[in-house]
Amino acid sequence: MNKKSILSLMRPTGKLHLGHYLGVLTNWINLQEDSEYDCYFGVADWHALTTKFDETDSLKQNTNEVLLDWLSSGIDPEKSNIYLQSLIPETAKLHIYLSMVTPMNWAQRDPTLKDMVKIMKEKGSNEEYSYGLIGYPILMAADILTFNAEFVPVGIDQVAHIEIARDIARRFNNIYKTDLLIEPKPKLTQIPLLKGLDGNKMGKSFHNDIKISDTTEQTTKKIMTGITDRSRLRKTDIGHPDECEVIYPYWEIFAKQEQKEEIKCACEKGEIGCAECKKRLAQIVNEKMNPIREKRKELESDTNKVKEIIYEGSKKARIKARETLEKVESTVMIYR
Ligand code: SF4
Repeated sequence: MNKKSILSLMRPTGKLHLGHYLGVLTNWINLQEDSEYDCYFGVADWHALTTKFDETDSLKQNTNEVLLDWLSSGIDPEKSNIYLQSLIPETAKLHIYLSMVTPMNWAQRDPTLKDMVKIMKEKGSNEEYSYGLIGYPILMAADILTFNAEFVPVGIDQVAHIEIARDIARRFNNIYKTDLLIEPKPKLTQIPLLKGLDGNKMGKSFHNDIKISDTTEQTTKKIMTGITDRSRLRKTDIGHPDECEVIYPYWEIFAKQEQKEEIKCACEKGEIGCAECKKRLAQIVNEKMNPIREKRKELESDTNKVKEIIYEGSKKARIKARETLEKVESTVMIYR
């Protein structure tokens, strides 16, 4: 069967949190189990360099942390192509060919680039942004087109990010009168929104997250700080799960139906206090995450294992990358 390629990249930002686990990794796991798809999951270390070219020590460490989280969560190198972007030199070459046919203003209008420039300015960076950063949208298109990915899993707010890859593929095909590059489509996914413990978007920099790798104790301690129904002052006050900002939505995501119903009922009758409710929730979250954490520890103890997996995965992924690049070069260049 001719499988359709799916590609997704993640920047190596360090240890991942439960929002990543539920929003991205569980979706990837479902996709890798689907025999219709050939999955390519890459760590975007070149992308990280576009804004953090002077932080290479943390880049190495963060890449390792991300891979540990992927593998322990169930991304399986036997079922998916797990690779490191910088180990696929074909992408860099394709980036050059695509850069030649991409009008400058296409790169500048890309929402990802605009976001990154904004973030750099907010951080007070005095650096002029680099040539590499301006080329970021084209590199992103090259990532997708290297594997001729038909689908890119995204949330609804990220659809625009794939547009430029579609536009570039179409332009390349028109210029060279070929149908070589597939225009990638977004694969929309329903992502359960897991708020941070303070009620804002979960994020490492907001210090409101629970990491996949957090211990049982750390997780419990963090959950105990989660926002509840703000109108509830005493344990015996009637609670409103619908107005419980963080804790009840976590129950909705992590607990079984009967557990949810039980806690909802006890809260509405004022039969359970928020502290007890949080303790029970922490237990449920820990039960779910502990096997992953144990696997992570095992992987951590074998320092070469992760490296081996990523090198092997990248080698495997390069087979398809080479195929695409050879076709592109024989289309564009004479002596191929
Ligand atoms: S008892 Fe639980 S669900 Fe009810 S308000 Fe408190 S934390 Fe929220």
